[in-house]
Amino acid sequence: MKQFVVIGLGRFGGSIAKTLSELGHEVMAIDQDEQKVQDFLPIVTQTIQADATDEKLLLDLGVRNVDNAIVSIGDDIQASILATLILKDIGVPHVTVKAISELHQKVLEKIGADKVIHPERDMGIRVAHHLISKNILDHIEISSKYSIVEVVATEKVFGKSLAALDVRAKYHCNVIAIRSKDNKMNITPAADEKIQPGDVFIVIGRNEDIHAFEKKIGE
Ligand code: ATP
Repeated sequence: MKQFVVIGLGRFGGSIAKTLSELGHEVMAIDQDEQKVQDFLPIVTQTIQADATDEKLLLDLGVRNVDNAIVSIGDDIQASILATLILKDIGVPHVTVKAISELHQKVLEKIGADKVIHPERDMGIRVAHHLISKNILDHIEISSKYSIVEVVATEKVFGKSLAALDVRAKYHCNVIAIRSKDNKMNITPAADEKIQPGDVFIVIGRNEDIHAFEKKIGE
């Protein structure tokens, strides 16, 4: 069981707090809004109505002893930055922060946030990729150039082996897993693995290489 502090119980922070709690972890949830605090009372271990930019208060609450903090304040960028700064300053090892703009993200990275999440932008990218190609089920950006993408196998490749497709040599990306119709994951599939209807390739590589692969099998 791990201990978490979640600051800001909007839709994003609230869903993180709830999920962590459901997974059996200890969650201290902080929000300045009385109603939010009431709403989360039955969901998490402890709720506190407080302004997260109050350093003394965070120290008094023992937040420094927690390994992971999540700051999910969207609208008030100043509060988000200050809370992050305080959490890093008092020594919280892992601070994850939600950003609402590129500039917000840059500032958070500069002041030492360990992970910055930009949910609206990231979800927008994922949905756009899915809209462009019906063969792309999901898209996870691992850097600006590299991604992990779920590509649906098309008729064109049914019955062919991974060796025959020669994905690495032809498209310079790697099939790291194949998910079958019954949701079974075949991690690091063998070269002689035959592609079946309903299979989904989990591919890692450069964005343009993955798209070349996806286009080729989708044509
Ligand atoms: P959502 O995740 O719903 O999109 P959002 O990004 O719009 O939320 P906000 O509504 O700005 O985020 O803030 C989320 C929560 O953070 C709110 O419940 C708000 O009361 C809380 N909050 C804002 N500032 C502070 C602060 N200084 N201290 C504690 N909580 C705060």
